[in-house]
Amino acid sequence: MKHYDQLSANFINGEWVESAGTETIGVINPATGAEFGRVTESTPEEVAEALAAARAALPGWAHTPLEERITVIEAFARLVEENMAELARIRTSALGAPFKSSLTLSNSLDLLRMYVESVRKLEFRQVRSDSFGTAIVERRPVGVVAGIVPWNVPVRNEIKKLIPALITGNAVVLKASPQSPFVGAALMDLLAEAGVPSGAVGLVSGGAKVGEAMVTDPNTDKIAFTGSTAAGRRIAQLAGPLLKRVQLELGGKSAAIVLPDADLATVVDSMMIFGYANSGQICASLSRLLLPEERHDEVVDALKDRIAGFRLGDPYAENVNLGPVISGQHRDWIDQLVKDTVAAGATAETGGEPALEAGPGWFYQPTLLTGVRPGMRSAEEEIFGPVLSVIKYAGEDEAVAIANSSDYGLHGAVFGGDTAEAYRVGRRIETGTLAVNSFDVPLSAPFGGVKCSGLGRENGVEGFDEYLEYHSYKFPNEQIARAVLDN
Ligand code: NAD
Repeated sequence: MKHYDQLSANFINGEWVESAGTETIGVINPATGAEFGRVTESTPEEVAEALAAARAALPGWAHTPLEERITVIEAFARLVEENMAELARIRTSALGAPFKSSLTLSNSLDLLRMYVESVRKLEFRQVRSDSFGTAIVERRPVGVVAGIVPWNVPVRNEIKKLIPALITGNAVVLKASPQSPFVGAALMDLLAEAGVPSGAVGLVSGGAKVGEAMVTDPNTDKIAFTGSTAAGRRIAQLAGPLLKRVQLELGGKSAAIVLPDADLATVVDSMMIFGYANSGQICASLSRLLLPEERHDEVVDALKDRIAGFRLGDPYAENVNLGPVISGQHRDWIDQLVKDTVAAGATAETGGEPALEAGPGWFYQPTLLTGVRPGMRSAEEEIFGPVLSVIKYAGEDEAVAIANSSDYGLHGAVFGGDTAEAYRVGRRIETGTLAVNSFDVPLSAPFGGVKCSGLGRENGVEGFDEYLEYHSYKFPNEQIARAVLDN
């Protein structure tokens, strides 16, 4: 696999075509603060060309039998597996994340397996009869998909847009974040090698300007977006008058509620993963921890002990287990938010400062804030950093009210000694997903948010709904319809 650290071409019609763009963006390794590559911003003409190529390739790919499309995606999965170490290296350069954690590619291979298993459960054509007669109800690809992804989980983010679109017969043009543009390029080569036909998949590069050109292009039928709520709103605003389908996977401010009888080890193990993983830069982070008075000190002390075990620094060093945040600007923003919260009365039990000793990059000390109350900045805003906010509650109703007071509704957790009781409390939380005595949800369960966390679902059989359109055909009677289908 080619190692990309420069990208001055677009992937159009199965070929790398040198860009005529004059704007280039430096790509910085957050662990060192040094530029390690550059990407050229695609011109509006190149965006239009990539989407037109997708339009031209669509009928051929849409009519390719499902089993052939699955064979191509399985070949792609094998190539991803063969090139895991190289993809992990590109990922670590973009995120500064520990190489050991990058090597898992955030379960991308499991995700690929799940898509293949789930797509086989779909019924693409079905005969239905009622008192009005008989119809064949058919599910067909929505058409040309513009996939737009953030920088925070390279490989997995790209796969989550490319593969559900392709396996259901759509053509797709991807744009990754200019802060992590190279994984997308490497995946184009692997998809072409696996047998995705020319044009059915394409890649353009750049920031918001390029993304907006993709959204409004007449060849785009659907926008599959993952990113911030602010950008999601803007995309919805642009797509609305054009009546384009929009799927939005946006931000979160997820709450974990600890019930009085919760198991301490389960709480602490879960929070160490979903409070701090990827330096807190995951959308489903459990960034608010709601504790009853009687468990507060015990849980906080146990978390402080474990936080002391984080080692920040060179992502290739054996003992390093926590990376930096994506940029200097983002680190300063996190720091200000933490300081504003402390000024409002919270306490930094750990951290609360940039970790300058960890290296030349943009490290932030893993931070545990206690005494946080609703209304304080760290209780309200998505931080996307290694900062966990502890909020005390008195009684179930107050815990539920605090959890639901957020504008977001992506994920959540409830911990309790009685699992059925924890589930009952969890069902009162306004959120797309929720973990009971755990921190994540299986890949085959639909994932996505309510409220300002998004529109639509990905993953599982239901995730394909976003990529398929129903078409109904009336037939004289059921016998004829079945004979047509069997043919
Ligand atoms: P971002 O919104 O700044 O950018 C995301 C992508 O959208 C990038 O490719 C960017 O270039 C593009 N973009 C930005 N403005 C655009 C516009 N007006 N039109 C079209 N494209 C535009 O987000 P980010 O900083 O890269 O990522 C962090 C955010 O992503 C967080 O809010 C996080 O919660 C969210 N996220 C959500 C999920 C989820 O599944 N819900 C997963 C990962 C990340």
